[in-house]
Amino acid sequence: MATSAHQLDSSINNTWYEDTACVSFSAPLFKGKEDCDTLIIGGGLAGLALQSMLSEHQIYCLLLEEKNIASGASGINGGFCTPGWSVDQLELENRVGLSKASQLYSISLAGFEWMQELCQKFDPAISQVKHGVLKAHSSKQKIKLESKVHKFNEKYDANIQFLTEDELSQYLISPRYDYGLLDLHSFQFNPLNVIRSLAVKVQSKTGKIFEDSKVTNVESYKGGYRASTSCGGIIHAKRVVFCTGGHFSNLGVSSLYKKLFSLQTSIAVTEPLSKIFSGTISSNVAIHDDRRAGNYFRILPDNRLLWGRDIRSIGNQTRIQIIRDTRRDLKFFFPQRRKFFDDLKIDYGWSGKLGYSSNFMPYVCCEKSNLFLLTGFGGHGMNAAPAAASLVKDAILGDQSKMQAFEYFFPTWNGGIFGRYAAEIYIRWLKICDQMNMN
Ligand SMILES: Cc1cc2nc3c(=O)[nH]c(=O)nc-3n(C[C@H](O)[C@H](O)[C@H](O)COP(=O)(O)OP(=O)(O)OC[C@H]3O[C@@H](n4cnc5c(N)ncnc54)[C@H](O)[C@@H]3O)c2cc1C
Repeated sequence: MATSAHQLDSSINNTWYEDTACVSFSAPLFKGKEDCDTLIIGGGLAGLALQSMLSEHQIYCLLLEEKNIASGASGINGGFCTPGWSVDQLELENRVGLSKASQLYSISLAGFEWMQELCQKFDPAISQVKHGVLKAHSSKQKIKLESKVHKFNEKYDANIQFLTEDELSQYLISPRYDYGLLDLHSFQFNPLNVIRSLAVKVQSKTGKIFEDSKVTNVESYKGGYRASTSCGGIIHAKRVVFCTGGHFSNLGVSSLYKKLFSLQTSIAVTEPLSKIFSGTISSNVAIHDDRRAGNYFRILPDNRLLWGRDIRSIGNQTRIQIIRDTRRDLKFFFPQRRKFFDDLKIDYGWSGKLGYSSNFMPYVCCEKSNLFLLTGFGGHGMNAAPAAASLVKDAILGDQSKMQAFEYFFPTWNGGIFGRYAAEIYIRWLKICDQMNMN
């Protein structure tokens, strides 16, 4: 059989998650005509979490996914699950005050707990949960950092441990990092296995997930909405919820595509590491750093290194470029292992899209009558998406009060093409600042 361009392309861009997945999921195309209460557009964590929550309240909803479930950011990400949002919590306090920031933190914590409970429902070999997330700091200001953590723990009833240089070296040996903040409550997991397992559960309960079913248009219709799909289907829905992540497009009635930025970040995965590397990065914790365009990395269950890096608003990187830049990064962060990384094979390289608003907080709101936005989680969606889904679920059930916590972050224009270039300039500026701090 001849190999089509599409097959070739997808095999080149396969992720480690896809190649090692131990859960499969498939759903039919949406054809024909159907009426429902709620139409959910997008089969990532946001859409599935919402459908799972609504199905417990017997709300009849359909979920339509353009490609496959979890083929967006939700099934290809770093697999870190921590409380909070894309915006740093202390920065949130500056923006909205302590009381509102605390309310937002509690909401994010509820999403974190929801995700943790979800993972516990599945076999550990599927969820691959491991507790412990370390934030590596390149800051030289020990006292300032220690006091910041202390205040954070007090205000948010958290238990983040400050690690001195010596303590940090038990987890990470790199001259680029000086201190660490260790959170033993947060965890790493396998997002593709977990989200597919969630889809299997939701599908067996509702039977209403559809794949390869792109929604191409949504318009107002008799007090509700009428959606058309790429395969000729028509849906009449009382409500519509946009859960389209960084993959938004002009779908008619929503102006979401004018209000979000689609950014990209990439991940590379090495071949299994030899013993020589042991001790350089601990396999007990997942690690991210304090750079503004930060790195995130962890040792996978088959002893490979997953290295997440970069953020950009313009231009896609090829697999080869991702691998090349990752190797360069690894040699920079671990100069004592330069030779090792020169010889190491990097087996995977992929990138994914993130939806960001200009204030870096998600859109969790009713854009117009019965048309909800549940999107824009940026690089911090694994707790945030279910947290926000729960608020939208409450709003659909008639209680819009909790969603008011997001009133401050109303949708604003993204500046069109100029906005994209402005975002790219801003990101490059952040990268230069990071570079200057590290040298
Ligand atoms: C490389 C990478 C690493 C990351 N690492 C982490 C991490 O470690 N921890 C963390 O918390 N977050 C991380 N994130 C962010 C996190 O993955 C996202 O915030 C989260 O997955 C967003 O979920 P979502 O459901 O909103 O979007 P997505 O998962 O992107 O789902 C949106 C879906 O909508 C579908 N869609 C779009 N348009 C249509 C349409 N017209 N019709 C039908 N379907 C449509 C898309 O096909 C897609 O499947 C990372 C993201 C990336 C890309």
